[in-house]
Amino acid sequence: MASDKVSEEYGSLVFTDADMRQRLPKPTYKELRRVIDEGKDINLNIANEVAHAMKEWALEKGATHFTHWFQPLTGITSEKHDSFINPNGDGTVLMAFSGKELVQGEPDASSFPSGGLRATFEARGYTVWDPMSPVFIKDEVLCIPTAFISYTGEALDKKTPLLRSEAAVEREAKRVLALFGKQPKRVFTTCGPEQEYFLIQEDDYKARPDLILTGRTLFGCEPAKGQELEEHYFGAIRPSVNAFMKEVDDELWKLGIPARTKHNEVAPCQHELAPIFEQGSVAIDNNLLTMEKLKLMATHYGLACLEHEKPFEYVNGSGKHDNWSLSADSENLLEPGDNPEDNLQFLVFLACLVAAVDEHADLLRAAVASAGNDHRLGANEAPPAIVSIFLGDALTPVVDALIKKEHAESHGRERVDLGVPALPNILRDNTDRNRTSPFAFTGNKFEFRMCGSQQNLSDCNVALNAAVAEQCERFCDYIAAHEDLDFMAAAMRFVRHTFRDHQRILFDGNGYSEDWEKEAEKRGLLNNKTTPDALPCLVEQKNIEFFEKFNVLSEAESRARYVAAAEQYSKLLNIEANTMVTMARNLYMPAISQYSGDLASSVATKAEIGVASKTEKDLVATLTQGLEDIRVAADELEEKNVAARSAEDVQKQDDAYRDDVVPAMAKLRAAVDGMEKICAKDYWPVPSYNDMLFYV
Ligand code: ADP
Ligand code: MG
Repeated sequence: MASDKVSEEYGSLVFTDADMRQRLPKPTYKELRRVIDEGKDINLNIANEVAHAMKEWALEKGATHFTHWFQPLTGITSEKHDSFINPNGDGTVLMAFSGKELVQGEPDASSFPSGGLRATFEARGYTVWDPMSPVFIKDEVLCIPTAFISYTGEALDKKTPLLRSEAAVEREAKRVLALFGKQPKRVFTTCGPEQEYFLIQEDDYKARPDLILTGRTLFGCEPAKGQELEEHYFGAIRPSVNAFMKEVDDELWKLGIPARTKHNEVAPCQHELAPIFEQGSVAIDNNLLTMEKLKLMATHYGLACLEHEKPFEYVNGSGKHDNWSLSADSENLLEPGDNPEDNLQFLVFLACLVAAVDEHADLLRAAVASAGNDHRLGANEAPPAIVSIFLGDALTPVVDALIKKEHAESHGRERVDLGVPALPNILRDNTDRNRTSPFAFTGNKFEFRMCGSQQNLSDCNVALNAAVAEQCERFCDYIAAHEDLDFMAAAMRFVRHTFRDHQRILFDGNGYSEDWEKEAEKRGLLNNKTTPDALPCLVEQKNIEFFEKFNVLSEAESRARYVAAAEQYSKLLNIEANTMVTMARNLYMPAISQYSGDLASSVATKAEIGVASKTEKDLVATLTQGLEDIRVAADELEEKNVAARSAEDVQKQDDAYRDDVVPAMAKLRAAVDGMEKICAKDYWPVPSYNDMLFYV
């Protein structure tokens, strides 16, 4: 997009606040703002007027259909398109869209995972308009962001609990702020999701059934070159990738998504896109749209965009950093200012956050548990599975002093003299960036780094928001219980006690080291290494009660979410195991057989003219043994998979996948990869890592 067009085109596919103001009668607009800002119920007359204005706007933009866009428990987005046409009875049609159609939809949605919440006889689900997230146009369809609930009002999606958790943290944070004499109109979470992804040639993608069916390579021997030269990170962006990124930016900007930063990542052909942060649930909607657009736009350049957490062994996988903060109107509540030690309000929120993360580390870990993310956490490329908090150079001394009942001076921002007269001296950032920490304070926000690239950030934000709400409530209770003390003194005591009681979660060292794992164990921190270890906490009584208390999830909803996530794990691994067995038998074994057969013929032919070929003969023997090893490993994997699938409940199933199927997959992979190393390239049936990683 030409630079002079950007501000003109920005948000052109979104029904923005400006569009509403311009197109709606003033009283209607005011009422709609109350619905959006204050969560008021919308009445049907207003809904009809809003729907009409939306439709007129959408028709001008060429839309013919509308859809309720929602986020079922699969984590991705769903949509069903209905056209605006309404027959007049005389063979002509009118383009119509009513308030009722805007506010509520009823997709026959019986085939989405519900974790057992819906029996088929009551399979109806409703989609309900979320007026906080703006409507937009995608492929000539007016998309209405919605929540998805069951006939009996239970959440069937990722968004409903997110909105509930945002309401909880808003309510409780407002109570805290009231004690500081502040009455903000809104308190909301802010979220800036950094999205990592890989790009490879589409032809290579199409030649790999594992990528198509599972999103990652299930086989592939180590490439001659990996990421060891470290030249890809922030390297010059290649022209084809640059053209792709430009189109993505253009498309996102039109959708009002503030895409800002793009760069090459650590692994070859890995990249990142980061937007400017927005209100939590809007940022998450926009991240999902971004993921969809990345995949689509890649195909315009003969590329495939891989969003899986671990598309390739031997190089880094992809994460998604959840930059998180709380705002009261325009005030960032995690802004420490120049003297955090004297900024009591900041210290209270910081203490609440530290306690929240310590007390609900299990839920945060469960929120990022998935088969894909199991490959990253703790593998020295992403934070470990242990949740801890990094506060950095500026805050650590303040917190340490508070615990020791001293008054600390934070050392402010240091000036760095570069020793070159022509270069200006710079101010050192207060946040020394510890890349190995799962939960790091980065200046005026926290960055939660455990999320996987494919994941919907709703899950971890639900846990975090609710946990912070709980601590805010605890603060208010504490103040109420210490009426004898002056407010400032009581608040300071709360801060000090909270930091003291939750010290174990604070860790500024190297999170990748083995020492930390041992130290964390001593501190009693959880280390749930795999998804089957991490998920069961969702149905522990204390957590069920916690979510119930803050109206985030009912007991039935918590149980359903556990079942859906646990089922997702074993289903994904079942697909991976099936794919491996099929590829081994239908692709790799025939290829190895062919190559060894041709070599054997060559050995025989040479022998006929009296030339003995020891090398070829040995190779035939090795390949034949390899073929046998692959057959045995494939049979074993198939057997283990069948056994795991028939385990009696979801947890036993998941455990069997982790303990039996995953190791059997590794064995089959090793057998095949060993053969890839010695098989002639022309015979090998799929593109290798060397082919795929360096040609985009
Ligand atoms: P880095 O790669 O060093 O982590 P980036 O600039 O790529 O940094 O990403 C930082 C992200 O944090 C951006 O998406 C940015 O919008 C977001 N961010 C900044 N301030 C806040 C805030 N107050 N709340 C939430 N997110 C924020
Ligand atoms: Mg980051």
